[in-house]
Amino acid sequence: MTRTYQTGRPIWCAGCGHFGVQGAILHAMKQVGVELHETLVLAGIGCSGTVQNNIGAYGYHSMHGRVLPTAIGASLANPDLTVIASGGDGDGYAIGGGHLMHGLKRNPNLLYVVMNNGIYGLTKGQDSPTKEVPIASPDEDPLDVMMLGLSIRSTTFLARAITTRSDQLNDLMVQGLNHTREGKGMAFIEVLSPCVTYNDTYPQWMNKVYDLDDDPEYRNDDRGKAFFDVHQLVQQDRIPIGLVFHGEHASLQSSLLSDMTPHESLDEQHSARSKQHMKDVLAAYAV
Ligand code: SF4
Ligand code: MG
Repeated sequence: MTRTYQTGRPIWCAGCGHFGVQGAILHAMKQVGVELHETLVLAGIGCSGTVQNNIGAYGYHSMHGRVLPTAIGASLANPDLTVIASGGDGDGYAIGGGHLMHGLKRNPNLLYVVMNNGIYGLTKGQDSPTKEVPIASPDEDPLDVMMLGLSIRSTTFLARAITTRSDQLNDLMVQGLNHTREGKGMAFIEVLSPCVTYNDTYPQWMNKVYDLDDDPEYRNDDRGKAFFDVHQLVQQDRIPIGLVFHGEHASLQSSLLSDMTPHESLDEQHSARSKQHMKDVLAAYAV
């Protein structure tokens, strides 16, 4: 008897922002026309880490903080796959912070969606790197990943949304998915997705957001100017949302797999390269 996989039901608290993020991912897949069987959704550890259970695509629950390297590996192994990595701020910016920097630097073809609520929700509300006033060290400033992304010159798509503005969230998700499916590299979207149970930031964040998409002076295609403007807004205790930056840079796939046809086994080509690389390394140590 054939059994068809049934998607799960969200286990999130009523009012959790993650419902909106899941809805936006599904909306974007439908708008862009990507089929479930052509898509892999990966998630990290945390409340947000259950999102892949609720989407009927292929799913993978990665180790804590390791969603990006896992997603990059999957997208290199099968360049035809649409890869959507997702997770929370604790997963992506703390234990996975090193992978974030290198993911942004390498510009792989995938969509990375981070649900930021300023805490570790699954373990009952400990501070994450984006907590506005950390309990243990209240003078510490929260991490702003849009500024981090702008400072890395190979980033090609940076955006931030908030779940209370679903039209903008949906639109950015569609743009991000198109960006990566067109082979332009990594689309990184941070969604302000409040945790109503342990850190209900809906009121503060709704007052603090500044919509760059509504600012005719803002230039999302000028990295230097965008960095200056985002920095100014952060200094003023505002949270910039909208399309923060888009630009062009070779994707990881275009430089690494340029001499491979899609689906060509990584085994032969990759192991040949690895063997040659190992020979070169050993030759460098030869006396
Ligand atoms: Fe969402 Fe917070 Fe509940 Fe987790 S604990 S499901 S982050 S509201
Ligand atoms: Mg979190």
